[in-house]
Amino acid sequence: MGKDRRELETRLIHPLKRAPQRFDSLAVPVERASTVLFDSLAEALETGRESDEHYRYGVNGTPTTRELELRIGEIENAAGCTLAPSGLAAIALTYLATCKAGDHVLIPASVYFPNVRIGRWLKNLDIEVETYDPMLGAQIADLLRPNTRLVWCESPGSISMEVQDVPAIVEAAHANKTIVAVDNTYAAGLLFNPLDHGADLSIHALTKYPGGHSDVLMGAVNARDERLALKLRDTARLLGICVSSDDAALVLRGLPTMKLRIDHVGKAALGIARWLDGHDAVETVLHPALPACPGHATFERDFSGSAGVFSVIFKDWPRDKVARFVDGLELFKIGYSWGGVASLAMAYDRLVRPSREEGDRLVRLNIGLENVEDLKADLDRAISNA
Ligand SMILES: *Cc1c(COP(=O)(O)O)cnc(C)c1O
Repeated sequence: MGKDRRELETRLIHPLKRAPQRFDSLAVPVERASTVLFDSLAEALETGRESDEHYRYGVNGTPTTRELELRIGEIENAAGCTLAPSGLAAIALTYLATCKAGDHVLIPASVYFPNVRIGRWLKNLDIEVETYDPMLGAQIADLLRPNTRLVWCESPGSISMEVQDVPAIVEAAHANKTIVAVDNTYAAGLLFNPLDHGADLSIHALTKYPGGHSDVLMGAVNARDERLALKLRDTARLLGICVSSDDAALVLRGLPTMKLRIDHVGKAALGIARWLDGHDAVETVLHPALPACPGHATFERDFSGSAGVFSVIFKDWPRDKVARFVDGLELFKIGYSWGGVASLAMAYDRLVRPSREEGDRLVRLNIGLENVEDLKADLDRAISNA
């Protein structure tokens, strides 16, 4: 039967004509696939032996997702990068790739809270996760045990913004043969590179600055050495942890403007933080570039700049006044996450840091790309009306 005599339902799947294939766009093509085709059975069986030179099945990556892995890896000079469907999934993957039953893990008390919840769940796998004071530095040596497999850092810490002495923690951990993983979402690899300071893994919520437009969730783990990079990659593939090419394309679109966006919001946020620091209603501004922030000296030593997220603690404000302030903002929207173009504000229930009592008066701000004077006016008005 000639090709042109096949029935329509067949031709809907195997069309007679194809558009010319050569097409050199500046954008990385979005290539979608579950099935990937081979020229022969021999090639299919050979490609079955895992290698990054080949594509085998959608779970193992597409040209679009591999391109994104290479670009995220390049930012921090990593030996390898593995993508995950959210920043949170990248954290979970890090645990599963590095820890086994009987291991002990240390996480800073200032860590992104869902990481603490994963830590509690890991008890089911006989992995013990213990919290430590983020400001410990070299003294973390006292908490390391023979079975301490992993130390997490997150710098600055979520919400309370403590800047950690990552080089000192790395030195102590490595002397104990313990892996150090840094949640580097704040710096996005641009303001601080933990791998340059000896950390083994750098974890990113690409949801934040790399995506940059609040319309995609993704995470990544960058590894400093080849062996750990392979371990992360193999664990992700074993567990079916992968991302869609469409989502990867959204992050690829955000990357070229990421540095300009961070530079801009970094400057804008610092200006607003300084202005708030001088405001009558404000007790403390927790911004790593300001002296009141725990670890400020470490920040000055290790970071090349600050990003667009920080927290403010109001003077003597009861809980309902904080709520009226947040609700009264117009340009600042109320929502979790950060790193997009829109400014956001969030207050927290039962925040136990920096102290329980201050936690009730704390508001975290994400500065977006709006005009800085408009943002200050919005804050000023909401403070007056609170
Ligand atoms: C947002 C965030 C995450 C989680 O990222 P998602 O993509 O939202 O799951 C992890 N760590 C830090 C520090 C974050 O701010």
